[in-house]
Amino acid sequence: MAGRVRKMTDTYGRNINYMRISVTDRCNLRCRYCMPEEGLRLGGKGHNNILTLEECARLVQIAAGIGIHKIRLTGGEPLVRRNLVKLIGDIASIAAIDDIAITTNGMLFAPMAAGLQSAGLQRVNFSVDTLEKTKYRYITRQGDIGKLMASLYKALELEMHPVKINMVVIRGFNDDEIMDFVRLAYNYPLHVRFIEFMPVGDLLYWRQDRSLCSREIKAQVQQEYALMPVRAIRGNGPAKYYKLEGGQGSVGFISPLSNHFCGDCNRIRLTAEGKLRACLYDPREIDLKTALQNQASDSELKDLFLSAISLKPEKHSMHSGWGAGNKRKMHQIGG
Ligand code: SAM
Ligand code: SF4
Repeated sequence: MAGRVRKMTDTYGRNINYMRISVTDRCNLRCRYCMPEEGLRLGGKGHNNILTLEECARLVQIAAGIGIHKIRLTGGEPLVRRNLVKLIGDIASIAAIDDIAITTNGMLFAPMAAGLQSAGLQRVNFSVDTLEKTKYRYITRQGDIGKLMASLYKALELEMHPVKINMVVIRGFNDDEIMDFVRLAYNYPLHVRFIEFMPVGDLLYWRQDRSLCSREIKAQVQQEYALMPVRAIRGNGPAKYYKLEGGQGSVGFISPLSNHFCGDCNRIRLTAEGKLRACLYDPREIDLKTALQNQASDSELKDLFLSAISLKPEKHSMHSGWGAGNKRKMHQIGG
């Protein structure tokens, strides 16, 4: 591809080409498994420490120079960040970046979609844990499923393919809707990914017995549908995808708990406060915000990226718990 600089390989031979950026730790929803009801607890520190959009764009430029060519904007809720369209435009103008996506709860997407697409946004993943209005309100504490559905249809109308849905499967809450989601993928060109409920963040709602493993979910789907394995749908994730015979979309399974996918991990993560993490589960971070404030040169920033990548562990440590050293929540790291 024109403009791509080099291939970055980590200590374990993995090709690191994808960066997820949490553009804000704020959110317009309060999903029970992700954020406390009162929202961010900022204490006396205020909220002045997040990266500016200019700093963000500069860091993407540096990352592109070491082999990152796919970017996902996440949060918190990325669409509550002011001037996000400008940031997308700035990232799209970096020659080496060939894939820009967001993960969103969909509340604000529909009215913004055309502007986001014109700025350079190519793809979108929606988080949808239930298709029932009252249950949606319950799990998000304040979400409006009508807005989410309008956003889904808008993404299809604008042909932002592949349009993906993330469903965190929670026993006793939405496991009875698995087949409804499969039918959605059958009837529409949508790619539904069933995600194992992980013990991350505040652990407000997580319980071992609420987590279903992908094997159980897949077995349920196979009682009604023949699943045909497909090569990865365009994107960056660790899902294993299957076509549904006769259907339009696909279903995928993301198994962070039951099946280590770390051997194929290609990502690094930039938090809203400008800390670079090489693994969701590893609390070690490289502080890029302070470096930027200290007028670090491009070459110094590049070295900081390289040292973060050198810290990338061979496997995550999710089974030993989120841990006291891991102070950040999912909405701060960007799930
Ligand atoms: N606000 C955006 C959204 O909800 O799509 C982006 C940020 S959210 C933290 C990103 C993803 O992380 C969502 O799909 C959410 O369901 C997922 N997530 C959050 N906590 C999780 C958990 N404990 N287990 C599995 N997925 C989780
Ligand atoms: Fe917000 Fe996304 Fe977390 Fe829900 S999962 S509270 S929408 S950041």
